[in-house]
Amino acid sequence: MSIERSSPDVFRRRLLGALGAAGMAGVLPRVSATARRPLGVALVGLGYYSRDLLAPALKMTRHCRLAGIVTGTPDKAAEWQRRHGIPDRNVYDYGGFDRIADNPDIDVVYVVLPNHLHKPFTLRSAAAGKHVWCEKPMAMDAAEARAMIEACRHQRVQLAIGYRMQHEPNTQAVMALAHSRPFGRLQRIRAEAGFRGFDDAGGDPWRLDAARGGGAMYDMGVYALNAARYTTGAEPVAVTATASVQRPEIFRGVDETMQFRLEFPDGIVADGETSFGRNLNLLRAECANGWYELSPFQAYEGVRGEASDGRRFDIAVGATPAQQARQMDADALAILERRAPRVPGEEGWRDMQVLDAIFASARAGGKRVEIAAG
Ligand code: NAD
Repeated sequence: MSIERSSPDVFRRRLLGALGAAGMAGVLPRVSATARRPLGVALVGLGYYSRDLLAPALKMTRHCRLAGIVTGTPDKAAEWQRRHGIPDRNVYDYGGFDRIADNPDIDVVYVVLPNHLHKPFTLRSAAAGKHVWCEKPMAMDAAEARAMIEACRHQRVQLAIGYRMQHEPNTQAVMALAHSRPFGRLQRIRAEAGFRGFDDAGGDPWRLDAARGGGAMYDMGVYALNAARYTTGAEPVAVTATASVQRPEIFRGVDETMQFRLEFPDGIVADGETSFGRNLNLLRAECANGWYELSPFQAYEGVRGEASDGRRFDIAVGATPAQQARQMDADALAILERRAPRVPGEEGWRDMQVLDAIFASARAGGKRVEIAAG
């Protein structure tokens, strides 16, 4: 463990990592140096989501701030430094990224890269002793997700997944109904998430590239899948799925549309659909004595809905990117208060397990695939 040039925070994190591996982490007192200053966040990958949503949101947050950037494009770095006042010492390229371990300004690394890079950058961030926030989908498969969880656990850093809907108050009201069940037994769920896109070529089309985690299911399908799980408050036991392509000239080797059925315990069935060919944004639950729904259910703002008893879900969180600010503030507070985040790595891993089964079923022509409990 090389600690010569480390700050007290870095030193402590490394020591915690070492002690944790030895089962001794409880012997250290709380550190007060990090206790209440806003956490420094470094964004890795300065594409659409970082530029248009997360960086503006980090200007609204109270418990964290944009402190650093990691990018492969020097021109972008200069522009970001100007716009966000980021000092040279907090700018990294992908090759030199691991030096971030010695930077006391950075507490959290937020991985906002194409999906195939979520695992390697989570592992590198954890090895550097930084807490990790990772965008959805968490990884390419459940095995990768499990390795990410283990790496963060070993280094005693937090791992939170960027499922922003779980921080949204109307969504949280729907999640609570899974347990209070005011409409009786849940019977059927419909979850649809998609958008019409890719008619014009432009940008880096990694979302069309299977090797980089492309396809509608990874991108938008996880919203529907995650919603089916949080609306039932249960884990699916089996899945059947069908992948299809409506525009074969654009979608080669990835799904343009995926339809999937999740079977939950007690006979609850969730029908999910995701597509890059159609705008879809519905979450609906049918119960023995009524129904409730959100539409849109995964928009950046204006999530709203109603129920058969006349109740409305219409809490406003504010204009975009208020939702992202809410998510990052909640995740920062969890770190500062040493609590588990609302959406830990395990939540992403459960989705990846189901996703693996969905892809397996689709590859097998819609065969029913059971999901091992775990
Ligand atoms: P993007 O293509 O706009 O940006 C990706 C960035 O990664 C670019 O800056 C690119 O230069 C960089 N990069 C590094 N290595 C790369 C490689 N090998 N191939 C391609 N790009 C590479 O993508 P985005 O829309 O910002 O999405 C990034 C991540 O954020 C994805 O995981 C996506 O699912 C997630 N996302 C989440 C939300 C949400 O609402 N939570 C919304 C959009 C995107």
